[in-house]
Amino acid sequence: MVKHNFYAGPSILPDYTLEKTVEAVKDFAGTGISLMSISHRSKEFTAVMEEAQQLFKKLLNIPDGYSVLFLGGGASTQFAMVPFNILNKKAAYLNTGAWASKAIKEAKFFGEVDIVASSEDKNFNYIPKDYKIPEDADYFHITTNNTIYGTEIKEDIDSPVPLVADMSSDILSRPVDVSKYAIIYGGAQKNLGPAGVTFVIIKNDILGNVNRAIPTMLNYQTHIDKKSMFNTPPVLPVFAALQTLKWIDGHGGVEEMQKYNKQKAEILYDEIERNSMFKPTVPNAGDRSYMNICFVMNDGYEDKEKAFLDFATEKGMVGIKGHRSVGGFRASTYNALPMESVDALIDTMQEFEKNNK
Ligand SMILES: *Cc1c(COP(=O)(O)O)cnc(C)c1O
Repeated sequence: MVKHNFYAGPSILPDYTLEKTVEAVKDFAGTGISLMSISHRSKEFTAVMEEAQQLFKKLLNIPDGYSVLFLGGGASTQFAMVPFNILNKKAAYLNTGAWASKAIKEAKFFGEVDIVASSEDKNFNYIPKDYKIPEDADYFHITTNNTIYGTEIKEDIDSPVPLVADMSSDILSRPVDVSKYAIIYGGAQKNLGPAGVTFVIIKNDILGNVNRAIPTMLNYQTHIDKKSMFNTPPVLPVFAALQTLKWIDGHGGVEEMQKYNKQKAEILYDEIERNSMFKPTVPNAGDRSYMNICFVMNDGYEDKEKAFLDFATEKGMVGIKGHRSVGGFRASTYNALPMESVDALIDTMQEFEKNNK
């Protein structure tokens, strides 16, 4: 049976990425040896790293003066690496969920943290709007897409201080005005590649302003100076990420991704609103994520949750169980998820409604 992969992360990747990576694991770039067995200093792999950085810059229209890094440690290491490198005295954070809270916890090891607003009062089901970013903060940190709760900041905000964004789960899903940001980072395993690589887009001149010693591996400058090749980079995940970048480039770039993602999300939200068995978890349509679409059983149908999950599983839906802190369902509709999978989920929801009303 056809499987429809709605996992939140690691998650669906283009078939192109999988096929090219499988080929390279067997015979990388015509070398006759595996991608997993070749020196990262070989000219073949150096070319992969350079092309991945160049293509990332092209797709997001990244201005001069920025570097693209591929590191280990996941987005979770960035929660600490950002303040380690740029927090002098005080940082400002927007608390929009569990990932933002984890980032805040790490920043507190390095200085004062001003939480300018939080949506915790409503289990993070909205994006706070009325807040003031303190002008004396070293930076302002946001999480653009809140993977667990299905909320998203879909536009680039203005900040009077350097803006830092965790874009783990919506990178390359839309055009971004990178010039508005000092640092953009994220784990690759949501929308870009397999687990094991973390991307960092960093404005070079943001560094050098803190008065603390920074261990070599945790210092962005190390990786900028060595073009992300200071130590052994995650060779296979970087190769796979490059294939996804090529796939995006071949499919009209991030503008086309945005159009398609919006279409997929909107028809699914429309069905959630229309279908009497379900309701969305994010009340304000403007705050709803185009990447992670969260919904629960409608009032009066709460006892049908397991029945729907079982029915959907039978129909080939994979990974739609909601995160435990929200419950219900979450359909992740990343770049590589085809419209056919959204259609299949909608058909399943409609059939379930017919059978159970
Ligand atoms: C998944 C996720 C993380 C954690 O990423 P790791 O690479 O597992 O550390 C952080 N932030 C957001 C928004 C995420 O979706």
